[in-house]
Amino acid sequence: MSLMQIAEPGQSTAKEACATVAVGIDLGTTNSVVAIVRDGRPVAIPGPDGSTTVPSVVHYADDGSVIVGREALERAAEYPRTTIASAKRLVGRSVADLGDARRLVTYDFDETDDRVIRIRLGDGRSVTPIEVSAEILRELLSRAERALGVRPTQAVITVPAYFDDAQRQATRDAGRLAGVEVLRLLAEPTAAALAYGLDRNEYGTYAVYDLGGGTFDVSILKLVEGVFEVKATGGNSALGGDDFDRAIAQRMLDAAGHPETVDPRLVRRAVAAARAAKERLTGAEATEFALAMPDGSVFRRELSRTDFAAWIEPLLRKTRKACRRALKDAEVAPGELDGVILVGGSTRSPVVRDYVADIFGREPLADIDPDHVVALGAAAQADMLAGGSQQVTLLDVIPLSLGIETMGGVVEKLIYRNSTIPTGAKQEFTTYADNQTGFDIHVVQGERETVDGNRSLARFTLKGIPPLPAGMARVEITFVVDEDGILHVTAREKLTGIENTIEVKPSYGLTDEEVERMLLDSFEHAEEDLAARNLRIERVEADRILAATRAAMAADPELLDDAVREEIERAMAALEQVKVGDDHLAIRAAIEALDRASKPFAEKRMNRAIAAAMEGRTLAEVEHEVGS
Ligand code: ADP
Ligand code: MG
Repeated sequence: MSLMQIAEPGQSTAKEACATVAVGIDLGTTNSVVAIVRDGRPVAIPGPDGSTTVPSVVHYADDGSVIVGREALERAAEYPRTTIASAKRLVGRSVADLGDARRLVTYDFDETDDRVIRIRLGDGRSVTPIEVSAEILRELLSRAERALGVRPTQAVITVPAYFDDAQRQATRDAGRLAGVEVLRLLAEPTAAALAYGLDRNEYGTYAVYDLGGGTFDVSILKLVEGVFEVKATGGNSALGGDDFDRAIAQRMLDAAGHPETVDPRLVRRAVAAARAAKERLTGAEATEFALAMPDGSVFRRELSRTDFAAWIEPLLRKTRKACRRALKDAEVAPGELDGVILVGGSTRSPVVRDYVADIFGREPLADIDPDHVVALGAAAQADMLAGGSQQVTLLDVIPLSLGIETMGGVVEKLIYRNSTIPTGAKQEFTTYADNQTGFDIHVVQGERETVDGNRSLARFTLKGIPPLPAGMARVEITFVVDEDGILHVTAREKLTGIENTIEVKPSYGLTDEEVERMLLDSFEHAEEDLAARNLRIERVEADRILAATRAAMAADPELLDDAVREEIERAMAALEQVKVGDDHLAIRAAIEALDRASKPFAEKRMNRAIAAAMEGRTLAEVEHEVGS
């Protein structure tokens, strides 16, 4: 393992970028997304974690730092007062404006200011919802900057169609505070229609059904001579996927014998488990709901899509009512609609999709990811307002890591997920067995530490390696991903220079869902994977060193003196003993002990092998290749 080094040939040079870059931003109540038009097509920009959505949550840490997104969300339970979620419900409002909606947010307000809301952070500090929104926007801009190599200076930000002037003004102020020129505030349903390219038609009437985490919005859009008009809006500001989670959690707590629990931790765990189960049901007919109970037991129950559909029916019925009313307000009959657009994470569920089809009497449009559709439309608009095809190219990223399989089914990653392309990496591997003349290369893609959890991209063999003691031949593997996303893999044996190359397209045939599933899998299994990986690596290494030592001792007994032989045998016995256990650190220690014991012997053999390989070549040549 010590031979592995990563070098980076032809490191990507940031492409020439023009001074103005305009992005589209969906500033959501639950999640936010930033997108840009590239090669004439809007795309959502992923963050370092690979996810394109940023939870709209801001944590104000004690040390004065500000944390945004997933990490902030993770702190919400521990720091409820200094972690602000759903700021969108508060922008452009005064405490008096909130009225009933006040119960939807749990923060303390500074009541002395009756014009804007000030959220008390609990330690004398306070922030306005505009400042909170600005932090989310800054995070999205930084994310875009990382992908583009230049910070966006202009943005189109979306707002709900029903936002009033004060709410729109406050959103614009948040943009300004984040250091971006707000080209336009665009209604969310209009943005969704733009993403579908419906503006290419002259006339049309569309319904946009947007079910997010905590809000439901329905809008009826009319396109007249290429211009969209929002004819009616409706919805419920306290209805969304979070309510689905609570419905599931309540049924499960009932079944577990804790129907009226007030234990906040148990409730929180139940809701989190419900949310995860609900999201799994989007891709499966049934899933297991598992909940750790306070007594240390685990409650398990199967959750089927049919159960889920029945439990959320009363909630979906409310959306039906709102849709009917919006259609009536717009004076449009369901049959007159030219299309229904799905927006919001909750519409990914087939249960919700079927229900929407039933409400409107037609299949909704769902080709574009409902989590991205608003941001994509905003990006299209931003591109247009910034003067069409922008000069900047968004550097593509590798969606899942690329690596090769090494002994024992362990994956060695060469290029990490989210590296911008073009990119490259180089690493050296050595032969495992004495006199090994072929080297099998298995190129894989994925995040799991072991090969079975990854996707196999290609296999090939490097033949013609000169017979040498194990570990002496050095095979250098180079990965280069070019501008078109093609991966070129080259394997080269350094002593002889023989090489072999293949090309593969790593993104070929991978859908967004597959990428997402593979990522989720890897997060879920990260810890066990790491443990399994360490153990596999050490066991393989132990087998290798034992076999190699044995073979070497049999081959060159004349290079061994008695004292060294005894040392080696003792170390080998010790290694045999710990190898069958599952303590990878103990195996590592025994390997190192054997390494030390056999060092004098190994050096003698090495000198002889070099002498043989050198025949007919200059010392300088061989030293250059063999030396480190
Ligand atoms: P908002 O518009 O309020 O910012 P989103 O549109 O991001 O919210 O929707 C968030 C909601 O979508 C959450 O309730 C989440 O559980 C739900 N959601 C996300 N992915 C899925 C999925 N695969 N299946 C079902 N619901 C999902
Ligand atoms: Mg939304």
